[in-house]
Amino acid sequence: MSHSGTPGGQPGPQRTTDRTPAPSEPARAYAELIAGNRRFVGGAPRHPNQDAGHRAAVADGQHPFAVIVGCSDSRLAAEIIFDRGLGDLFVVRTAGHTAGPEVLGSVEYAVTVLGTPLVVVLGHDSCGAVQAAREVATTGTQPQGHLRAVVDAVLPSLRRAETEGVQDIDGIVDIHIAQTVETLLGQSPVLADEVAQGRCAVVGVSYRLAAGAVRPVAAVPAGFATLGEEAGPLDPAAPAAA
Ligand SMILES: [Zn+2]
Repeated sequence: MSHSGTPGGQPGPQRTTDRTPAPSEPARAYAELIAGNRRFVGGAPRHPNQDAGHRAAVADGQHPFAVIVGCSDSRLAAEIIFDRGLGDLFVVRTAGHTAGPEVLGSVEYAVTVLGTPLVVVLGHDSCGAVQAAREVATTGTQPQGHLRAVVDAVLPSLRRAETEGVQDIDGIVDIHIAQTVETLLGQSPVLADEVAQGRCAVVGVSYRLAAGAVRPVAAVPAGFATLGEEAGPLDPAAPAAA
């Protein structure tokens, strides 16, 4: 189904309420996200679930189908890049998509209380938080104030990149995305159990700022992301090739 939303060249998006039930299983949730990203990339977003009627309909309760653990970068607005609306995505964002206690608690809330079947770690090329961490690793100069907490959370990924011989910033970003997926599962037995039971999956994707497209770089269960609708292959043998 395609909706141009601009017949006759009239400006402004078409707004619709998506009346299909929210996906309740991981593969369908991922396919839904990828479909929205493709609409966004192709310049044909539907802006679903953003109208006043839907706003009222979801006031009594939420059933988001995906948790987004994303970087705070202003160009990474989740509902825009995945073409979704109110009640669809449970979004947790920090600079460099770090996974501290409040982030872990927020993810666990969505997965266990709201029953959300998918967790997506969303990183991106040219990430400033990763660049800042690399600067610290290179120069040894510590950042001011609480920015240090962000850098400290990214540094393990820098060390891993060094071990793997990856030096370009976007290759390091891929490693940091995969590291965040591992941290979420390693630090949250609650989330790991949901995944083990097949009720949830965790996928790490990298977003390209200019193109607007996401690319899977890590997934648990392994190979899960290939189940998504034409999401492209996930090659676990070379997750961070330079
Ligand atoms: Zn970033």
